[in-house]
Amino acid sequence: METDCLFCRIVAGEIPATIVRETDRTLAFRDIGPKAPVHVLVIPKEHYADVAVLAGADPGLAGEVLATAAVVAEAEGLGADGFRMIFNTGRYAGQEVFHAHAHLLGGAPLGPMLA
Ligand code: 5GP
Ligand code: ZN
Repeated sequence: METDCLFCRIVAGEIPATIVRETDRTLAFRDIGPKAPVHVLVIPKEHYADVAVLAGADPGLAGEVLATAAVVAEAEGLGADGFRMIFNTGRYAGQEVFHAHAHLLGGAPLGPMLA
């Protein structure tokens, strides 16, 4: 755990979050500032700065993050109409929290990806 990392602190229970799914190695919780009717963040419990670092260090865990996101998408009723998964990675992508996370977005038409 990185003590100055917001998402590590959510994993540790030090900061409250609305958790929608938890597995041994992943956690899914609602984004505090939702950009769509459903906006869930899915993270590895272990700290990796971004998805590229995560995928390089532990591709199995990266796959578990995707699998948890897919299960949450189904549980949130997004299966029929579809959804978007985004990993902001680095400065140009606007990454603000440097603990790897998937944004799972859905529940309404999302518009063009780079709007
Ligand atoms: P990024 O820009 O790094 O890809 O996304 C970070 C996301 O974390 C943002 O969508 C932001 O709303 C969300 N976020 C920031 N602080 C908190 C928090 O304390 N709790 C939760 N649940 N989400 C947060
Ligand atoms: Zn962290």
